[in-house]
Amino acid sequence: MAKITFYGGVGTVTGSKYLLEHNGKKILVDCGLFQGLKDLRERNWQDPAFLPHEIDAVIITHAHIDHTGWLPRLVKLGFNGRVTTSRATADLLKILLPDSGRLQEEEADYRNRHALTSHTPALPLYDERDAKAALELMSPVPNDGQPREICPGIKASFLVAGHIMGASLVLVEMENARDDGSSIRFLFSGDLGHYDQPIVKDPAPPPDCDYLMCESTYGDRLHGDVDSETQMARIINDAAKRGGPILIPAFAVGRTQEVLYMIRELEEQKRIPVLPVVVDSPMAAQATQVYGKWHEEHDREYASILAQKRHPLRTASMSTASSREESKQLNEMRGPRIIISASGMMTGGRVLHHAIRIVPDENATVVFVGFQAAGTTGRRIQDGEREVKIMKNWVPVRCHVEKVEGFSAHADWKAVLRWLSSLRQAPKTVFTTHGEPEAAAAMAGHIRERFGWNVMVPGYEDSVELT
Ligand SMILES: [Zn+2]
Repeated sequence: MAKITFYGGVGTVTGSKYLLEHNGKKILVDCGLFQGLKDLRERNWQDPAFLPHEIDAVIITHAHIDHTGWLPRLVKLGFNGRVTTSRATADLLKILLPDSGRLQEEEADYRNRHALTSHTPALPLYDERDAKAALELMSPVPNDGQPREICPGIKASFLVAGHIMGASLVLVEMENARDDGSSIRFLFSGDLGHYDQPIVKDPAPPPDCDYLMCESTYGDRLHGDVDSETQMARIINDAAKRGGPILIPAFAVGRTQEVLYMIRELEEQKRIPVLPVVVDSPMAAQATQVYGKWHEEHDREYASILAQKRHPLRTASMSTASSREESKQLNEMRGPRIIISASGMMTGGRVLHHAIRIVPDENATVVFVGFQAAGTTGRRIQDGEREVKIMKNWVPVRCHVEKVEGFSAHADWKAVLRWLSSLRQAPKTVFTTHGEPEAAAAMAGHIRERFGWNVMVPGYEDSVELT
């Protein structure tokens, strides 16, 4: 009998980790870090209920840290098998995992210096070396739907999920004990993108399966008809008239590239003036290179721009600051300009060096293009606080504060139903995962109502036996 256990990515959108056990084999699909509230983050420190060295193979659906950031910990605890993922994801992980290791080290360091720890000294969950050890195990495959053996008796097929560069939906086929070539098929939606999203292809139709793990981030919400391009054009035009700088805090992998793509389009359509655009994040610059590399992921528009020998992620007057000196020189720039920098919630990174000058400037504009979690500096500014603390200084908020919606990389519930409608056969059970409790329950309701299928909403550490 096969079994699936939900070690994360249920009841929350972080910490994705699904253990499949069948015919003496153990496979872990995704190995994400829990993020957000303290209760969730503490789970990162708990020893897993399985022995890491007993896992035969790991499969990764996409590069986001909530799907990959626990992998270095798993390796540190003894996992030494293969990690199969798409080629673009493997490239993005070379940027993201070592960075995550450094952040863990910095956090431990901070706790030690401020005596915030009951364990002395506070240790990092893992460090940069562990992250690099995890990268050694990567086994990249094309996102082309071809079944490939990931370990004896188990095949996996990766297909484009349309969420970020390299994101996959994955079909795992585990051979049955009786030697007749039959197998049990598990389909993981991963994070599904929405249709007609720029840069990446639409989600591939789901292959038939016995059990389906379906994401439900927007299980109870719809994106609506947000025209984010018009919002962005208005903000940039207003700022250009005032002659002030525009600061866009953005996550280095994914969001920065989507923003660049949009600004280039607006420039070409002459809806905004050509302004100097500076990408001040070494990680973003590296990620942009990965975006240009894997043509199998690109949608038709992106491919046709490339075919004309133009760069889809390069605006007319763009530069990237790699060194700290280049970053500091930006402070000398005058006049209207656009600075894109990380981190996206203004919790650290180079964006803070810009924010300390831009936030008190009444001619300047800060534009939020992503979710701002409670407690972050980004959220405080977005919520209209009059003064915020940036790098230990209290700074008055006098700049214009704007928000562009519609940048979500997730399918809403109607798009998930559209995706599911391509299945020719009803799965035996659909599990709604990767959603807050209300969203996962709502998604389950939508699927039952539309298709009449058997749907379950699993909880944390639930194990389900499958026949
Ligand atoms: Zn994701």
